Amino acid sequence: MRRHRHVIEHARTLAARYGFAEVATPIFEFSDVFRRTLGDTSDIVTKEMYTFTDRSGAEITLRPENTAGVARAVIGGNFGERRPFKCFYAGPMFRYERPQKGRLRQFHQIGVELIGAAEPLADIEVIALGAHLLEALGVLDQVTLEINTLADEASRRAYRAALVAHLEAHEDALSEESRQRLKRNPLRVLDSKDEGDKAVLADAPAIDAHLSAEAAAFFDGVCQGLSALDIAFTRNPRLVRGLDYYCHTAFEFTTEALGAQGAVLAGGRYDGLVETMGGPATPGVGWAGGIERLAALVEETVGAVAAAPRPIAIVPLGTRAEAAALGLAQRLRREGLAVEMTYRGSLSKRLKRADQARAAAAVILGDDEMERGVATVRDLDSGAQVEAPEAELGTHLARYAPGP
Ligand code: ATP
Ligand code: MG
Repeated sequence: MRRHRHVIEHARTLAARYGFAEVATPIFEFSDVFRRTLGDTSDIVTKEMYTFTDRSGAEITLRPENTAGVARAVIGGNFGERRPFKCFYAGPMFRYERPQKGRLRQFHQIGVELIGAAEPLADIEVIALGAHLLEALGVLDQVTLEINTLADEASRRAYRAALVAHLEAHEDALSEESRQRLKRNPLRVLDSKDEGDKAVLADAPAIDAHLSAEAAAFFDGVCQGLSALDIAFTRNPRLVRGLDYYCHTAFEFTTEALGAQGAVLAGGRYDGLVETMGGPATPGVGWAGGIERLAALVEETVGAVAAAPRPIAIVPLGTRAEAAALGLAQRLRREGLAVEMTYRGSLSKRLKRADQARAAAAVILGDDEMERGVATVRDLDSGAQVEAPEAELGTHLARYAPGP
């Protein structure tokens, strides 16, 4: 959790600085929220959803991603009328996948959505926030930003026809899965990790020849904005997002440092989504980052995140001392110190326990010390100890207080 919180807190702080307010939407939704928006041929809908029937017979799904849920809530008016609507979220997502390093069935995402702005400026700001977060986490030099355009519907239709012609000419060399996708959603073939498919894709046509003037200008605008902000990116004409609702900008920050699961933060523009869900035509753009993968990348490349503050251990010896120790512990905690009580055993057992708790110092209270109104403060690193009057304990322990 400490590593997760490190990622979440950086994201939350930066998102607020960019004007994204935190929201929380339900962890489950009616299945249609996902099925209708993600597309019948997406991996998520075909193989990865955790879907159940509830007591009323309604079909519900544990959210596999959060864009559809946010859009559903925006349409429902739950977030008021603010436009554009800018939100940040952090929370669990569920996908029935083959569990492995960096790929979990319950994983966690941070994400942002900017709903109600159709301009390339919105895409640029959303990507800039992602890059800023990676920079703040200290991992920006470990990732590559890949970017592509999925253009508008007409451009995509023209491109799809050219791609299908190419793929059909090499159908024998395609994997079974890609042959299925070729029939149902050919753009998804570009996403394949199969070596045979990759060979066929190597000389597949790119979308560039089919871009409408508007789509090309939009993409240029985004690329220029990123360059103006000194955000390095590479064009990947094969980058498509796994979900049907994306158009124009698609992007992904990937790393080599995590092995096979290299995508850490990904997103794009989804102008058709809100309308697909029965709302008014509303443009949108956003991204989601995998918290486990980001935390692993931080650990892998920057080193361990700051440990919890070291506590003071209270070591009472005898019944009267134990009773007094309770009050002392509370008093010190109120003064802002982290305090670990030792609950049982001899002096050495309790000091061992203090050690396990990584205590920086121990306050040792024996019955005879109680009588004299003093306690022993032992620095557990140096072993040095002093006897202090109870009233002055706070002063003696101040240097062990956790930083701000
Ligand atoms: P992948 O290609 O790795 O399956 P994806 O395209 O399915 O990723 P997105 O839907 O774009 O992933 O989700 C955004 C981010 O969430 C990913 O970049 C990744 O960091 C993280 N993520 C997705 N699925 C998982 C998972 N099963 N376990 C851990 N993290 C995940
Ligand atoms: Mg996936």
